[in-house]
Amino acid sequence: MTALRLTEAQFQQRVLETAAIHGWRYAHFRPARTVHGWRTPVQGYPGVPDLLLARHGVILLTELKTDTGRPTTEQLAWLEQLGNHGRLWRPRDWDQVHAELSRPKEH
Ligand SMILES: [Mg+2]
Repeated sequence: MTALRLTEAQFQQRVLETAAIHGWRYAHFRPARTVHGWRTPVQGYPGVPDLLLARHGVILLTELKTDTGRPTTEQLAWLEQLGNHGRLWRPRDWDQVHAELSRPKEH
């Protein structure tokens, strides 16, 4: 399988399955169709990363993109403020993503 052809949805599924196997809790805020179009019911700044991942006191907020997808200005602003807790993951980064998710728990 070539990772380069994954859609963001397929990549997300792969990330979540791997996270679950390795004991991470996760949440994904999905947009829903409303009379005004697609909306995600979250108050606050736009561009919040796609996934919240937590395990043993480690929290990651990860923006997922395809290999060619470009983060928006708002998404980049979130990642900047998140510092070491923020991630921008793409299918081509799979080796790093897998290594981080499967790293043994610290303690
Ligand atoms: Mg995304």
